[in-house]
Amino acid sequence: MSLAQSSSAAILMVQQLPDHGRCVLVDESQLILRAGEVYWPASLLKALLDPMTTAVALDVGKDAPLYALSCEIARLSQYEAVLCNPRSLLQSSLPSVFAHAGKALQLAHWIKSHRHCGFCGSRLEAHTVERALQCPECQHRVFPRISPCVIALVRRDTQILLARHVGRGSGNFSCLAGFMEVGETPEETLCREVLEETAITVSNIRYVGSQSWPFPSQLMLGFHADYAGGEIKVDGHEILEARWFDASDLPTALPPPFSVAGQLIALFLQDLKV
Ligand SMILES: [Zn+2]
Repeated sequence: MSLAQSSSAAILMVQQLPDHGRCVLVDESQLILRAGEVYWPASLLKALLDPMTTAVALDVGKDAPLYALSCEIARLSQYEAVLCNPRSLLQSSLPSVFAHAGKALQLAHWIKSHRHCGFCGSRLEAHTVERALQCPECQHRVFPRISPCVIALVRRDTQILLARHVGRGSGNFSCLAGFMEVGETPEETLCREVLEETAITVSNIRYVGSQSWPFPSQLMLGFHADYAGGEIKVDGHEILEARWFDASDLPTALPPPFSVAGQLIALFLQDLKV
């Protein structure tokens, strides 16, 4: 990739990083930790890595600017480097650390998956200022993209509808979720997904909150909805099993409290106590 020359650019080379900067390292879909720490000093990486290694700015407004880099852990073996599944940070880290790690994963994935222009096939280059890639031939510009998803907790009096999903920790029950399709509002996605996956209809949809979910680049939009009608019937393709659970008899393995699914369930329990 051809890279910007200014050290203030959003996409630059590791050799251009300020010595007091910090970096989050990504190897494919995992993080590289150093002695248990997410952050690596830029000064160390400038001496270790190929000087042309791409760095993407995560946060440059603070005293110690922060960047994301992709590299192979084998290059760092003498520095107590270990791979870390980013999902494990959800339970063990400060929310700000998970946010930095998630942003680094998404930007590293974006850079690796956008090497050529989708219109003319030319090699993309770093934009000189913005966090964007640009085609030198047709000027097409590519920004990091996110995929919005809706996650829903359907309530029926003191019960909630939970499901076991194919291939997503299939032993555990969680909320229903799905990607938004072109032209849909989040509320329309919610109604469609719940109906497709469980044959249940809903009403009274309420937005609760959102979370960046970097596996690899989703934005989770969390809602509560009320049961309106229907009997549970699962599709067998995306959903293995769906059941109503009473608040007094929830599954033992619930989504982690930092996740939107965990927060939707916690809010439901809190509402019952009021
Ligand atoms: Zn082009």
